Amino acid sequence: MSHETCRYEFPEGKRYNTFVGYFKRKYGERLQKIVLDAGFTCPNRDGKVGRGGCTYCDNAAFHPSYSTACKSLHQQLDEGIGFHKVRYRTTEHYLAYFQSYSNTYAPLEKLKQLYSEALSHPQVVGIVIGTRPDCVDEEKLDYLQELAKDHVVIVEYGIESCYDETLKRINRGHDFETARRAVEMTAERGIDVGVHFILGLPGESRQMMLDSCELINRLPIRSVKFHQLQIVKGTRMEQEYAEKPEDFERFSLDEYIDFFVDMLERLRPDLSIERFIGEVPPRFVNETPWGLIRNVEILRLLDKRLEERETWQGRDFK
Ligand code: SF4
Repeated sequence: MSHETCRYEFPEGKRYNTFVGYFKRKYGERLQKIVLDAGFTCPNRDGKVGRGGCTYCDNAAFHPSYSTACKSLHQQLDEGIGFHKVRYRTTEHYLAYFQSYSNTYAPLEKLKQLYSEALSHPQVVGIVIGTRPDCVDEEKLDYLQELAKDHVVIVEYGIESCYDETLKRINRGHDFETARRAVEMTAERGIDVGVHFILGLPGESRQMMLDSCELINRLPIRSVKFHQLQIVKGTRMEQEYAEKPEDFERFSLDEYIDFFVDMLERLRPDLSIERFIGEVPPRFVNETPWGLIRNVEILRLLDKRLEERETWQGRDFK
């Protein structure tokens, strides 16, 4: 691939920064995440912040079968490593990914016990903690800062949208300012921060989503995940979509690839793009407008479109 027109050197001959490339650069190897369910809940479900949860949420749709809270963390790690070994035979080290629900939503002593247990697994070199921005405080972050001296530690915040009216509509129970503060408090301790956004939430136009790149670029983050809105069966979002489909931007696969290239052009070139498509299994969603195309094929389509448009991540970043 020619990079004659590309202003930046991205790893692996790509026209954007991949997360795998980031790991290889920083740690010299590929690190595979193993998803864990450590039995946490969420303040947006148990009544502390709200009840019923975010309108699109069904946690069962987001985690693999080997990860269930009735198994010990080591058992989940062993089974997850076995699962991934089939595909990535040369991977030697793993990250324990506390993914289900809000993984800092417990007293500090409990968190210490769970994170230490995962880190005691002989093949685990670090932890990735998925959580809500309103579930961290100085004390918890100070502890993570200590852990980060000897281990890989990444905190991943679900932000989902930069617009407060959207966050209200999807019943997130926090605003963008809360997310910005949590990201800054984490990053200023030298901890790597990743964030997550959903593209296509109700009330957001394509232009609004593109404009949010400017706010994302200002966050002191290392990586970002996006996924297209997938409407999970049985959620409140499914009902809302049935009642007001005109409020939702729905993308054909071709449109989404082009749209994501537009997003990439606006994003900071140093941000690692961990994901740009959702992976909810088809049995959980109300429709599969893109058919049963595999992720690896969609990644190939993105590379191809970047090439055709002779563009790259950060081209329009100022
Ligand atoms: S914060 Fe996460 S776990 Fe809690 S309701 Fe929302 S999406 Fe579900």
